[in-house]
Amino acid sequence: MGVCPSATMSLLTDNFTGALHPWAQPEVLTCTPWGAPIIWDGTFDPDVAKQEATQQNLTIGLTVFAVGRYLEKYLERFLETAEQHFMAGQRVVYYVFTERPGAVPRVALGPGRRLRVERERRWQDVSMARMRTLHAALGGRLGREAHFVFCMDVDQHFSGTFGPEALAESVAQLHSWHYHWPRWLLPFERDAHSASVMARGEGDFYYHAAAFGGSVAALRDLTAHCARGLAWDRARGLEARWHDESHLNKFFWLHKPAKVLSPEFCWSPDLGPRAEIRRPRLLWAPKEYRLLRD
Ligand code: UDP
Ligand code: MN
Repeated sequence: MGVCPSATMSLLTDNFTGALHPWAQPEVLTCTPWGAPIIWDGTFDPDVAKQEATQQNLTIGLTVFAVGRYLEKYLERFLETAEQHFMAGQRVVYYVFTERPGAVPRVALGPGRRLRVERERRWQDVSMARMRTLHAALGGRLGREAHFVFCMDVDQHFSGTFGPEALAESVAQLHSWHYHWPRWLLPFERDAHSASVMARGEGDFYYHAAAFGGSVAALRDLTAHCARGLAWDRARGLEARWHDESHLNKFFWLHKPAKVLSPEFCWSPDLGPRAEIRRPRLLWAPKEYRLLRD
Protein backbone atom coordinates (compact mmCIF):
# COMPACT_ATOMS: atom_id res chain seq x y z
CA MET A 1 0.00 0.00 0.00
CA GLY A 2 1.17 3.57 0.60
CA VAL A 3 4.72 4.58 1.30
CA CYS A 4 5.00 6.09 4.76
CA PRO A 5 8.56 6.97 5.75
CA SER A 6 7.57 8.13 9.23
CA ALA A 7 4.36 8.16 11.19
CA THR A 8 4.53 11.77 12.32
CA MET A 9 6.33 14.78 11.06
CA SER A 10 7.08 18.30 12.25
CA LEU A 11 5.91 20.82 9.73
CA LEU A 12 8.31 23.66 9.03
CA THR A 13 6.99 26.96 10.28
CA ASP A 14 8.09 29.24 7.49
CA ASN A 15 4.50 30.06 6.66
CA PHE A 16 2.05 32.71 7.77
CA THR A 17 0.90 31.04 10.98
CA GLY A 18 4.44 29.97 11.73
CA ALA A 19 5.60 33.53 11.51
CA LEU A 20 2.85 34.53 13.93
CA HIS A 21 3.63 31.68 16.30
CA PRO A 22 7.32 30.94 15.93
CA TRP A 23 7.17 28.49 18.87
CA ALA A 24 4.64 26.29 17.11
CA GLN A 25 6.20 23.16 15.60
CA PRO A 26 3.07 21.17 14.93
CA GLU A 27 3.41 17.41 14.88
CA VAL A 28 0.95 15.77 12.55
CA LEU A 29 0.12 12.16 11.80
CA THR A 30 1.37 11.41 8.29
CA CYS A 31 0.60 7.70 8.11
CA THR A 32 -2.39 5.58 9.13
CA PRO A 33 -1.92 2.38 11.17
CA TRP A 34 -2.60 0.41 7.95
CA GLY A 35 0.14 2.20 6.03
CA ALA A 36 -1.80 4.75 3.99
CA PRO A 37 -0.31 8.24 3.65
CA ILE A 38 -2.09 11.18 5.28
CA ILE A 39 -1.04 14.06 3.11
CA TRP A 40 -0.32 17.50 4.54
CA ASP A 41 1.24 20.46 2.82
CA GLY A 42 4.98 19.87 2.78
CA THR A 43 4.77 16.06 2.96
CA PHE A 44 4.58 15.52 -0.81
CA ASP A 45 6.11 16.96 -3.96
CA PRO A 46 3.27 18.33 -6.09
CA ASP A 47 5.47 18.39 -9.21
CA VAL A 48 6.21 14.66 -9.00
CA ALA A 49 2.50 13.85 -8.64
CA LYS A 50 1.74 16.14 -11.57
CA GLN A 51 4.34 14.52 -13.82
CA GLU A 52 3.10 11.03 -12.96
CA ALA A 53 -0.49 11.95 -13.71
CA THR A 54 0.47 13.58 -17.02
CA GLN A 55 2.47 10.50 -18.06
CA GLN A 56 -0.51 8.28 -17.35
CA ASN A 57 -2.73 10.55 -19.42
CA LEU A 58 -5.45 10.46 -16.80
CA THR A 59 -8.96 11.80 -16.99
CA ILE A 60 -10.20 12.94 -13.61
CA GLY A 61 -13.88 13.39 -12.87
CA LEU A 62 -15.32 15.87 -10.40
CA THR A 63 -18.96 15.39 -9.44
CA VAL A 64 -21.08 17.97 -7.69
CA PHE A 65 -24.78 18.30 -6.90
CA ALA A 66 -26.43 21.69 -7.23
CA VAL A 67 -30.13 21.33 -6.55
CA GLY A 68 -32.57 24.08 -5.54
CA ARG A 69 -31.00 27.24 -4.21
CA TYR A 70 -27.56 25.68 -3.97
CA LEU A 71 -27.23 26.20 -7.72
CA GLU A 72 -27.36 30.02 -7.76
CA LYS A 73 -25.68 30.34 -4.44
CA TYR A 74 -22.57 28.17 -4.89
CA LEU A 75 -22.05 26.52 -8.25
CA GLU A 76 -20.40 29.33 -10.20
CA ARG A 77 -17.73 30.01 -7.61
CA PHE A 78 -17.13 26.30 -7.08
CA LEU A 79 -16.50 25.76 -10.80
CA GLU A 80 -14.53 28.97 -11.35
CA THR A 81 -12.16 28.20 -8.51
CA ALA A 82 -11.93 24.55 -9.60
CA GLU A 83 -10.68 25.83 -12.95
CA GLN A 84 -7.89 27.64 -11.10
CA HIS A 85 -6.95 24.96 -8.60
CA PHE A 86 -8.42 21.50 -9.26
CA MET A 87 -6.07 19.20 -11.18
CA ALA A 88 -4.57 22.06 -13.18
CA GLY A 89 -3.01 20.83 -16.42
CA GLN A 90 -4.87 17.48 -16.33
CA ARG A 91 -7.82 16.25 -18.33
CA VAL A 92 -10.89 16.96 -16.20
CA VAL A 93 -14.58 16.30 -16.68
CA TYR A 94 -17.05 18.00 -14.36
CA TYR A 95 -20.37 16.31 -13.73
CA VAL A 96 -23.00 18.68 -12.40
CA PHE A 97 -26.21 17.06 -11.18
CA THR A 98 -29.13 19.45 -11.11
CA GLU A 99 -32.86 19.59 -11.78
CA ARG A 100 -32.36 22.81 -13.83
CA PRO A 101 -29.68 22.25 -16.48
CA GLY A 102 -30.55 25.56 -18.14
CA ALA A 103 -29.55 27.50 -15.03
CA VAL A 104 -26.01 26.09 -14.86
CA PRO A 105 -23.58 29.02 -15.22
CA ARG A 106 -21.34 29.09 -18.28
CA VAL A 107 -17.88 28.98 -16.81
CA ALA A 108 -14.90 29.38 -19.16
CA LEU A 109 -13.01 26.06 -19.18
CA GLY A 110 -9.32 25.51 -19.85
CA PRO A 111 -8.03 23.15 -22.55
CA GLY A 112 -8.82 19.48 -21.96
CA ARG A 113 -11.59 20.32 -19.51
CA ARG A 114 -15.28 19.61 -20.06
CA LEU A 115 -18.50 20.11 -18.19
CA ARG A 116 -21.41 17.72 -18.38
CA VAL A 117 -24.77 18.47 -16.87
CA GLU A 118 -26.92 15.58 -15.74
CA ARG A 119 -30.58 16.19 -15.16
CA GLU A 120 -31.79 15.11 -11.73
CA ARG A 121 -35.24 15.40 -10.35
CA ARG A 122 -35.52 17.48 -7.23
CA TRP A 123 -35.36 15.23 -4.19
CA GLN A 124 -36.79 15.64 -0.79
CA ASP A 125 -33.32 15.27 0.60
CA VAL A 126 -30.33 15.45 -1.71
CA SER A 127 -27.85 14.08 0.78
CA MET A 128 -29.88 10.85 1.03
CA ALA A 129 -30.10 10.31 -2.73
CA ARG A 130 -26.60 11.32 -3.82
CA MET A 131 -25.03 7.91 -3.38
CA ARG A 132 -27.60 6.16 -5.56
CA THR A 133 -27.23 8.72 -8.33
CA LEU A 134 -23.42 8.61 -8.17
CA HIS A 135 -23.49 4.84 -8.32
CA ALA A 136 -25.55 4.94 -11.50
CA ALA A 137 -23.34 7.63 -13.07
CA LEU A 138 -20.17 5.66 -12.28
CA GLY A 139 -21.72 2.69 -14.03
CA GLY A 140 -22.41 4.86 -17.09
CA ARG A 141 -20.63 7.57 -19.03
CA LEU A 142 -18.70 9.02 -16.07
CA GLY A 143 -17.29 5.59 -15.29
CA ARG A 144 -16.26 5.07 -18.90
CA GLU A 145 -14.52 8.40 -19.39
CA ALA A 146 -12.80 8.96 -16.03
CA HIS A 147 -10.03 6.99 -14.34
CA PHE A 148 -10.33 8.70 -10.99
CA VAL A 149 -13.24 10.69 -9.59
CA PHE A 150 -13.72 13.13 -6.75
CA CYS A 151 -17.20 13.69 -5.34
CA MET A 152 -17.69 17.01 -3.59
CA ASP A 153 -20.23 19.25 -1.90
CA VAL A 154 -20.96 22.45 -3.80
CA ASP A 155 -21.08 24.74 -0.76
CA GLN A 156 -17.33 25.35 -0.78
CA HIS A 157 -14.71 26.85 -3.06
CA PHE A 158 -11.12 26.07 -3.96
CA SER A 159 -8.48 28.32 -2.43
CA GLY A 160 -5.28 26.41 -3.21
CA THR A 161 -3.82 23.64 -5.34
CA PHE A 162 -5.88 20.44 -5.28
CA GLY A 163 -3.81 18.34 -7.62
CA PRO A 164 -2.87 14.74 -8.50
CA GLU A 165 -1.14 14.31 -5.12
CA ALA A 166 -4.68 13.69 -3.83
CA LEU A 167 -5.32 10.77 -6.20
CA ALA A 168 -5.38 7.13 -5.05
CA GLU A 169 -7.45 3.98 -5.33
CA SER A 170 -9.68 5.34 -2.54
CA VAL A 171 -9.39 8.71 -0.83
CA ALA A 172 -10.99 9.90 2.41
CA GLN A 173 -11.05 13.42 3.81
CA LEU A 174 -10.36 14.12 7.50
CA HIS A 175 -13.23 16.22 8.86
CA SER A 176 -11.85 19.59 9.89
CA TRP A 177 -14.04 19.83 12.98
CA HIS A 178 -13.03 16.44 14.33
CA TYR A 179 -9.50 15.55 13.28
CA HIS A 180 -8.04 16.24 16.73
CA TRP A 181 -10.88 14.76 18.78
CA PRO A 182 -10.53 11.55 20.80
CA ARG A 183 -12.11 8.54 19.11
CA TRP A 184 -14.89 8.08 21.66
CA LEU A 185 -16.20 11.59 20.96
CA LEU A 186 -16.39 11.21 17.19
CA PRO A 187 -19.96 11.58 15.87
CA PHE A 188 -20.35 8.08 14.44
CA GLU A 189 -23.80 6.49 14.30
CA ARG A 190 -24.38 4.54 17.52
CA ASP A 191 -27.86 3.12 16.90
CA ALA A 192 -27.41 -0.63 16.54
CA HIS A 193 -30.43 -0.75 14.22
CA SER A 194 -28.72 1.40 11.59
CA ALA A 195 -26.60 -0.17 8.88
CA SER A 196 -24.02 2.54 9.62
CA VAL A 197 -23.59 1.67 13.32
CA MET A 198 -20.11 1.84 14.79
CA ALA A 199 -19.46 0.27 18.17
CA ARG A 200 -17.45 2.07 20.85
CA GLY A 201 -13.79 1.63 20.02
CA GLU A 202 -14.49 1.29 16.31
CA GLY A 203 -13.55 3.91 13.74
CA ASP A 204 -10.11 5.11 12.68
CA PHE A 205 -10.90 8.75 11.92
CA TYR A 206 -14.05 10.75 11.26
CA TYR A 207 -14.23 11.44 7.54
CA HIS A 208 -16.10 14.23 5.78
CA ALA A 209 -18.60 13.44 3.03
CA ALA A 210 -17.94 16.85 1.41
CA ALA A 211 -14.95 15.36 -0.43
CA PHE A 212 -14.11 11.76 -1.22
CA GLY A 213 -12.63 10.07 -4.23
CA GLY A 214 -10.93 7.14 -5.82
CA SER A 215 -10.90 4.90 -8.85
CA VAL A 216 -14.16 4.23 -10.62
CA ALA A 217 -14.21 0.63 -9.30
CA ALA A 218 -13.59 1.68 -5.69
CA LEU A 219 -16.25 4.38 -5.88
CA ARG A 220 -18.73 1.93 -7.39
CA ASP A 221 -18.24 -0.20 -4.26
CA LEU A 222 -18.42 2.79 -1.92
CA THR A 223 -21.60 4.24 -3.42
CA ALA A 224 -23.26 0.79 -3.57
CA HIS A 225 -22.46 0.22 0.11
CA CYS A 226 -23.81 3.62 1.15
CA ALA A 227 -26.93 3.44 -1.04
CA ARG A 228 -27.68 -0.02 0.35
CA GLY A 229 -27.23 1.18 3.93
CA LEU A 230 -29.42 4.23 3.37
CA ALA A 231 -32.17 2.04 1.88
CA TRP A 232 -31.86 -0.46 4.76
CA ASP A 233 -32.26 2.34 7.29
CA ARG A 234 -35.15 3.94 5.45
CA ALA A 235 -37.01 0.61 5.32
CA ARG A 236 -36.78 0.62 9.13
CA GLY A 237 -37.85 4.23 9.50
CA LEU A 238 -34.34 5.29 10.51
CA GLU A 239 -32.03 8.03 9.37
CA ALA A 240 -28.40 7.90 10.39
CA ARG A 241 -27.06 10.76 12.49
CA TRP A 242 -25.12 12.38 9.65
CA HIS A 243 -27.05 10.86 6.74
CA ASP A 244 -24.82 9.57 3.92
CA GLU A 245 -21.71 10.65 5.87
CA SER A 246 -22.48 8.05 8.55
CA HIS A 247 -22.59 5.32 5.90
CA LEU A 248 -19.41 6.67 4.29
CA ASN A 249 -17.66 6.41 7.64
CA LYS A 250 -18.84 2.83 8.06
CA PHE A 251 -17.57 1.98 4.56
CA PHE A 252 -14.11 3.42 5.27
CA TRP A 253 -13.97 1.54 8.59
CA LEU A 254 -14.60 -1.73 6.74
CA HIS A 255 -12.55 -0.83 3.63
CA LYS A 256 -9.60 1.33 4.65
CA PRO A 257 -8.86 4.26 2.33
CA ALA A 258 -5.61 4.10 0.36
CA LYS A 259 -4.96 7.79 1.02
CA VAL A 260 -6.20 10.25 3.62
CA LEU A 261 -6.34 14.00 3.03
CA SER A 262 -5.44 16.36 5.85
CA PRO A 263 -8.07 18.91 6.87
CA GLU A 264 -6.27 21.46 4.67
CA PHE A 265 -8.00 19.80 1.73
CA CYS A 266 -11.46 20.75 3.04
CA TRP A 267 -11.13 23.40 5.70
CA SER A 268 -13.71 25.33 7.67
CA PRO A 269 -12.57 28.97 7.97
CA ASP A 270 -14.78 29.33 11.06
CA LEU A 271 -12.14 27.35 12.95
CA GLY A 272 -9.64 30.19 12.57
CA PRO A 273 -5.91 29.85 11.97
CA ARG A 274 -4.09 26.74 13.16
CA ALA A 275 -0.38 26.10 12.95
CA GLU A 276 -0.79 22.78 11.13
CA ILE A 277 -3.20 24.20 8.54
CA ARG A 278 -0.74 25.88 6.22
CA ARG A 279 -2.45 25.97 2.87
CA PRO A 280 -6.19 25.31 2.77
CA ARG A 281 -7.28 23.97 -0.63
CA LEU A 282 -11.05 23.98 -0.24
CA LEU A 283 -12.95 26.30 2.07
CA TRP A 284 -16.46 25.63 3.32
CA ALA A 285 -19.08 28.30 2.94
CA PRO A 286 -20.82 29.29 6.17
CA LYS A 287 -23.82 27.06 6.96
CA GLU A 288 -27.15 28.67 6.06
CA TYR A 289 -29.55 25.74 6.25
CA ARG A 290 -32.69 27.66 7.07
CA LEU A 291 -32.18 30.10 4.23
CA LEU A 292 -31.32 27.53 1.58
CA ARG A 293 -33.23 24.33 2.23
CA ASP A 294 -36.98 24.40 1.95
N1 UDP B 1 -27.44 19.85 -1.97
C1 UDP B 1 -28.10 20.57 -2.97
N2 UDP B 1 -29.30 21.14 -2.67
C2 UDP B 1 -29.87 21.05 -1.43
C3 UDP B 1 -29.19 20.34 -0.43
C4 UDP B 1 -27.96 19.76 -0.72
O1 UDP B 1 -27.62 20.67 -4.08
O2 UDP B 1 -30.96 21.59 -1.24
C5 UDP B 1 -26.15 19.18 -2.31
C6 UDP B 1 -25.01 20.18 -2.39
O3 UDP B 1 -24.03 19.70 -3.28
C7 UDP B 1 -24.51 20.16 -0.97
C8 UDP B 1 -24.61 18.66 -0.64
O4 UDP B 1 -25.82 18.25 -1.29
O5 UDP B 1 -23.21 20.68 -0.86
C9 UDP B 1 -24.68 18.32 0.85
O6 UDP B 1 -25.59 19.16 1.50
P1 UDP B 1 -25.08 20.26 2.56
O7 UDP B 1 -23.87 20.93 2.02
O8 UDP B 1 -26.23 21.15 2.92
O9 UDP B 1 -24.72 19.30 3.79
P2 UDP B 1 -23.59 19.50 4.91
O10 UDP B 1 -22.34 20.02 4.27
O11 UDP B 1 -24.11 20.47 5.89
O12 UDP B 1 -23.43 18.13 5.49
MN1 MN C 1 -21.79 20.97 2.49
